[in-house]
Amino acid sequence: MNVSKKPQVRVLVPLAVPKAYSYAVPEGMILAPGDVVRVPLASRVCVGVVWDGTGDGNIDEKRLRPVREHLPARPLSKELRTFIEFVSNYTLHPLGTVLRLALSAPDALKPPPKRFGYAATETMPKPMTQARKRVLEALGQAGVPLEQNLLLERAQVRAEVLRTMVKAGWLQKVETGGASETAPCDAYQLVREKSVLPSLSSDQESIVSVLREALKHEDGWGRGGARGNGFLLDGVTGSGKTEVYFEAIASVLEAGRQVLVLLPEIALTEQFLKRFTARFGIEPLVWHSGLTRARRRDGWRAVSNGSARMVVGARSALFLPFEALGLIVVDEEHEQAFKQDDGVLYHARDMAVARAWLGGFPVLLSSATPSLESLENVERGRLQHLRLGERFGGASQPDISVIDLRGESTDSSHWLGESLVSLMRETLESGDQSLLFLNRRGYAPVSLCRACGERITCPNCDVWLVEHRSRNGLLCHHCGYRRALLLECPACGEKESLVACGPGVERIAEETAALFPQARIEILSSDKVFGARGYQGAIERILEREVDIIIGTQIIAKGHHFPHLTLVGIIDADIGLGNADLRASERSYQLLHQVIGRCGREERPGRALLQTWMPEHPVIQALARGDRDGFIEQERFSRERAGLPPFGRLVALILSDTDEQRVRDATRVLSKTLPKGDGFVLLGPAPAALYRLRGKFRYRFLLRASRSIDAQKLITDWLAGARLSSGTRLVVDVDPYWFG
Ligand code: ADP
Ligand code: ZN
Repeated sequence: MNVSKKPQVRVLVPLAVPKAYSYAVPEGMILAPGDVVRVPLASRVCVGVVWDGTGDGNIDEKRLRPVREHLPARPLSKELRTFIEFVSNYTLHPLGTVLRLALSAPDALKPPPKRFGYAATETMPKPMTQARKRVLEALGQAGVPLEQNLLLERAQVRAEVLRTMVKAGWLQKVETGGASETAPCDAYQLVREKSVLPSLSSDQESIVSVLREALKHEDGWGRGGARGNGFLLDGVTGSGKTEVYFEAIASVLEAGRQVLVLLPEIALTEQFLKRFTARFGIEPLVWHSGLTRARRRDGWRAVSNGSARMVVGARSALFLPFEALGLIVVDEEHEQAFKQDDGVLYHARDMAVARAWLGGFPVLLSSATPSLESLENVERGRLQHLRLGERFGGASQPDISVIDLRGESTDSSHWLGESLVSLMRETLESGDQSLLFLNRRGYAPVSLCRACGERITCPNCDVWLVEHRSRNGLLCHHCGYRRALLLECPACGEKESLVACGPGVERIAEETAALFPQARIEILSSDKVFGARGYQGAIERILEREVDIIIGTQIIAKGHHFPHLTLVGIIDADIGLGNADLRASERSYQLLHQVIGRCGREERPGRALLQTWMPEHPVIQALARGDRDGFIEQERFSRERAGLPPFGRLVALILSDTDEQRVRDATRVLSKTLPKGDGFVLLGPAPAALYRLRGKFRYRFLLRASRSIDAQKLITDWLAGARLSSGTRLVVDVDPYWFG
């Protein structure tokens, strides 16, 4: 019928739209899927990506609007587009919203500025000074023109030397196209030749050879049945996992492909980056949500044109447009921080596995305390289990004692029991360091009125305000609300009746200082972090032995290697166990295990002391016995019986609104069509545990389904017919990790 059909394309825009829309291709423009374009949308013009598939064909050609402009950015690969589709289908977030994660550096889509570098000419400098010689050597070794900063650094000369050399015709300025400025492979080669690589233990060696083999066969993947080549690298802290995956990374770099290392908390990786740089001779590209615009732009481009070979990033790095990704490593894979809690609610570890599968390359998950999810994937044959036994170099595991607080003489305003205090004294006297762990920021979690019993709560959220003495106020840890410390009770008006209940790290520091006035104390908690630099300063003071006692929240739990730390005191081992969260035990175990693992990492053995009111609790028992596998078995058993993840599936739906009546109406609308059937239950609506959060009233539904149920389809069908008022927000959380 349509004889002279105009060419059409589908374009996906990075907005909350479920699919790509059709546009006309103007004459002379040639477009292919993945191309970055600008298109009109309603009354504005926005960036979009040419998507796969053909236009829907029913749109009147006259109404079809044309693509405005073809931007010079590198096209998004088929692999990335498929991944975006996958994430959207899995998380039930709109396709355009997911695309937005991949277009997170808008400036990178514009044409790149011209860049210049230096290259040698035919003429040799006369006289050949040492500085000039170094310049030529640096260029010779790189084999490509180098930009000024890099050249100055490599040759260790002043800018003046380059200027003179250009003037004399011994050097020339050439356009580098912005791609070769880091010349990473060459740098890597250099280091490879020069540096002393660790000689691996036989355990490490055999794991490395398994990985090398997998990486070699990479090209065959995606065609045969060898997809999903995933590995779980499992070994206690200090067993040499990092060293092992560094070897795998080296193989991938040698093969000319890119590597992505995902870390849970990017702010905490200074030590890691140093180690990385020392091993590979080049700095990895760092990616997280806190980067400046300019760094995002440069980073995005470097990843897409392949000049960044190594990326170390937080979860959002998963959506970068890699040119040739060859391996993803997820370090501390059990960390809850990999679950995005805002916007598109994806779990970066799970999506990393998906991205690797779609791209046909391996993924390596690493942890000392793997998640039940990953262990279950080992059982199902989806991940290959690689275990590292002992701590490297024979450092022993810390000696762990459980202190039953019922037998200790503590009172309601002291939290360091006598056993802990005496070990702290010993440690202090021997010149070693102690770490006191309490996963509570601030001074006290609750302010209570002695006269009327009132607890001070946040005006926007159903939570107690936390007293922070260092900031002289009461803070809400959910919405950021802050008020000055109160002189009288807001409920009964009684003066000076408010008392701080329970401890936070600041209060523990106060108690410690009173007990050990001569000790140098450092508090490490995320609110005291003063930016990455302040944090780094604290870490350095610890490494330089300018600190005797570290008092920290979970921020201190991972990644650090403090050689002189020999005592860990867990102030309250029970804190996480009381949560009504299905993963409360697992998470407590992981966290405490990690914290305990901070000590005794070198010659001097470590000691750990757990203060608890529930010494018989399975988590405490398993920690004390060092019986991880026993704990996992028990935890698996109870989850399997209850049909909870990873044995069953959960999807949470959260409705929220500033208007209480409206959100109730919404729950009624959804309840009318509540799906019923075999193999699943839909619970709710129920007021959320945090009924009011950031000023909104919240209700939840929870789907619990067996693994054979297509939970996504069930939810999609259910929601398809529902009409909610525009003020009510509905968030779908597939595989929820937070139940507040
Ligand atoms: P993990 O990642 O399991 O915590 P690491 O890889 O950080 O363990 O290793 C712990 C310590 O042992 C580090 O200081 C590391 O440099 C050292 N190490 C590990 N393997 C070797 C090796 N083969 N040769 C020398 N040192 C090693
Ligand atoms: Zn609040």
